[in-house]
Amino acid sequence: MSKLAKRLLIASIALVGLVSLWRFYRHVTRPAVSVTSYGAAGQVSGSLHVLQAGSSTGFIDCGNFYPEGSGSYARRLSRANRMSSELPVSASAVDYVILTHAHLDHIGRIPLLVKKGFKGRIYVTPGTARLMSPMIKSAVRYSPLKRKWVYSHNRLENSRSGKRTLVVHWNNCRYCKRITRKGHFRGTFNEMEDKMNLRLSPCRVCANMERDKIMETVKIVPFGKKFHPAPGITAEFVPNGHIPGSAAVLITITHNGQTKKLLFSGDTGKEHDILQRPAVVFPPADYVWLESTYGGTVRRQAPDAYARFARQVENELAQGHVVWIPAFALDRTQKVMHTLARYGHIEVPMYVTSPLANLFNRYYIQEYRGRKYGWFNEKVYTAPRMFPSYAHHLPKDTFKTHRPAILFTTSGMMDSGMSVSLLGKLLPRSDVSVFLVGYQDPDTPGGQLKKGKHKVYWKGKTYPVRARVYSYGFFSAHADMKDALYLLSRQNKKHVHIYLIHGDPESLKERKNKLTDKGFRHVSISRKGKEIIIFN
Ligand SMILES: [Zn+2]
Ligand SMILES: [Zn+2]
Ligand SMILES: [Zn+2]
Repeated sequence: MSKLAKRLLIASIALVGLVSLWRFYRHVTRPAVSVTSYGAAGQVSGSLHVLQAGSSTGFIDCGNFYPEGSGSYARRLSRANRMSSELPVSASAVDYVILTHAHLDHIGRIPLLVKKGFKGRIYVTPGTARLMSPMIKSAVRYSPLKRKWVYSHNRLENSRSGKRTLVVHWNNCRYCKRITRKGHFRGTFNEMEDKMNLRLSPCRVCANMERDKIMETVKIVPFGKKFHPAPGITAEFVPNGHIPGSAAVLITITHNGQTKKLLFSGDTGKEHDILQRPAVVFPPADYVWLESTYGGTVRRQAPDAYARFARQVENELAQGHVVWIPAFALDRTQKVMHTLARYGHIEVPMYVTSPLANLFNRYYIQEYRGRKYGWFNEKVYTAPRMFPSYAHHLPKDTFKTHRPAILFTTSGMMDSGMSVSLLGKLLPRSDVSVFLVGYQDPDTPGGQLKKGKHKVYWKGKTYPVRARVYSYGFFSAHADMKDALYLLSRQNKKHVHIYLIHGDPESLKERKNKLTDKGFRHVSISRKGKEIIIFN
């Protein structure tokens, strides 16, 4: 062995030794119980909090990142996709996951976790279990992960010549096995779509295989029932009024005879919402991780806001307009549809094109009829109907004729799905009225419309806007400052430590100041990766 090789060997042995020593030191000096936020810390999306207690490691939420922050939309999106493809802890070291609700910024990284070797249980409420299954399937299909894709060459030729979308596989499902002339692509779904310049559809059967494996690990626990995800930890779901099944999580930990209560708020709902059953005031805790989307804002909502919305829709229809409502598939579509059922007299055809939105519609109607989960407030169950009557498919001549109609599409920000494919057809028409009913990223088509632009730019194309545009903020399912104070009304202001999460930097600062003004002594903004020691 040469001198150099010997030296290299000694250096690498020393390095391995030092790393092991450092690991051992970290292990013995590790606090007994701690919480570290790796997502929704200093930002809205990517909710993920690690609870380390003795030898157990648990996640509260395991969500995707959205393209927030600064920079161009393309850059923000690629950053979000990269962050959504990573986990802060090795998946096999995670013993359990507790999910607060079925939105993707809270559950979107579950497929990644399971794929990387998670063997524990995922605890959810019955409502979340029902809603998360289709959401997980959607997350699996449009995952930002790199995959080995397989498609049929025969089908590719068909797709190139006609309008058929090409189904692409990644899990060797029964349909994939039957392909005789296989084509391959390695990369993300978006990369493949850009490269092939075709409309692609990630295989539903491949997605079902993955979804079913994930759903097998789910353990359903009703609200208020205590469960023990790991030794020494007792947890309980508390209704928080955000979307059906959504919950805050109350965790009780005893260490050396001392007990501490930790409350993760999840996404908090309003005190009064047209659909949801009201949130329950949070039980007293020592630590609260509080969602802060609305910062210090108090929504000014007229008591007849929902009725006014329905009237405005009717006005547009009376003028012969097509009312186009781009909305998120889960909960927002249903909330707006229920508003029209409750306060409107809709006599024109209504179309809901998204299969995912239609599936949730069906779940909401089943709940309205059967009252199985208790998702809604009393007024919903006693309303004469859940939704106005509607159809799933647009007739072929819908946009050729100039007849009034209501059209729901996804996505809500008009940056993907059917919403995008209608930009060119509907925005240039003066007999179209767009109703924006959710948050709009400023760079998306919805965001540009909200700003009053006369032209919308999206993915290299320009769309002139002659449609009327209305924007409504009150459909939001998030608590404002007043709702947050109501939810915190049982906390001891001098004692409770509040960590603000799930908000943009400005909102987090505002909420911190407002809570401090209201007498809360210990309010901090969660920092990504900062360990908060509960027991030393
Ligand atoms: Zn949410
Ligand atoms: Zn959220
Ligand atoms: Zn397949």
